Amino acid sequence: MIPIAKPLIGEEEKSAVMDVLNSGILASGPKVLEFEKLFAEHICSKYAVAVNSGTAALQIALMAHGIGKGDEVITSPFTFIATANSILFTGARPIFADIEKDTFNIDPESIIDKITDKTVAILPVHLYGHPADMKSIKEIAEDYKLTIVEDACQAVGSKIDNKMVGSNKLVGNNEECRATCFSFYPTKNMTTVEGGMITITGINHEMINANDNKNDERDEYILEYYNRCKLIRSHGTGANARYVHELLGYNFRMTDISAAIGIEQLKKLDSFNKKRQENAKYMDYKLSNINGIITPTVREGYEHTFHQYTIRITKEYGMNRDSLIDILHRKNIGNGVYYPIAIYRQPLYIKLGYNDHLKNVEIISNEVVSLPIHPGVTNDDIDYITDVIKNKGE
Ligand SMILES: *Cc1c(COP(=O)(O)O)cnc(C)c1O
Repeated sequence: MIPIAKPLIGEEEKSAVMDVLNSGILASGPKVLEFEKLFAEHICSKYAVAVNSGTAALQIALMAHGIGKGDEVITSPFTFIATANSILFTGARPIFADIEKDTFNIDPESIIDKITDKTVAILPVHLYGHPADMKSIKEIAEDYKLTIVEDACQAVGSKIDNKMVGSNKLVGNNEECRATCFSFYPTKNMTTVEGGMITITGINHEMINANDNKNDERDEYILEYYNRCKLIRSHGTGANARYVHELLGYNFRMTDISAAIGIEQLKKLDSFNKKRQENAKYMDYKLSNINGIITPTVREGYEHTFHQYTIRITKEYGMNRDSLIDILHRKNIGNGVYYPIAIYRQPLYIKLGYNDHLKNVEIISNEVVSLPIHPGVTNDDIDYITDVIKNKGE
């Protein structure tokens, strides 16, 4: 069996965990602080806040902006349900925009169609590790004065113009503050077992005029925002004043055990991602001449980290997606459909009154299947997988 995902845990992670266990400080402590610092440096963000899941990261990031009842947040319906649920949890209403057929990410033009006077934020998802069209989304956010919160749960290390998603240098000149949310679930490109991170940026120091007062205001907002994220993470209480609760929060803290694993995984992230990209390139080559199979595209100037390698099975293939999946299972090839049901079609959302029908989402959710691409996949595996697809299991 070639699994669709496989976390790579080495001796380094094991001994880091033992060190924490032996230290006696198990919950949130020095390792969490160290991991936050290293992660912020790696991504080139201003601040980082470690939490216990990607879902928690999204929820905190929205709440810390004061987003809630009466607000609308525009997002993609073609994503893991946590994206939209994080909006519901704040009391705001998720509004779904259509996706691009080639990158599977939210379509900026469809975002514009969905903007109302209640819209406060855009929550793009960098699906499968390919960043959404952030250049256009940034412009929309600036034009309509909307906040951007990014779901980068599948895109740790992905780049736009050679800068990682979450980097200071990708934030708009007039953007007040941007939060980017990551997940370290075991299937993601790096893991802390369960875990997540919010990076916070807001000033493109290369582009600003140092004498502009607006920048001081922004710096102040970013610092307040950062502090609010930390408060929400831990029942509204800060490190300085324990048991003084300033606002309503949760227990969304990361443990030192998770952070210790994360520190080791972060050191390996670049090589993990590089191997995914090499595997994707070989897979592209091997699938290039099969009728009806559409391999992933990468937008010019963008860097895909292939959390998933996702192909489309179109009519010309002569067999539908679900029949191919049966063959893959029979041939012991792990695979997955991310995601078979648009969020607005989920029973939960139908009960909430959703009845969208977005053209590209409907097409794509019936055509996609993801193939194993993780760093444990070898060229022999890819030869085998692509032969099965080429010969339709014959
Ligand atoms: C994994 C994932 C999440 C949630 O992360 P968890 O750590 O599992 O809570 C959110 N959005 C997307 C797109 C994801 O892939």
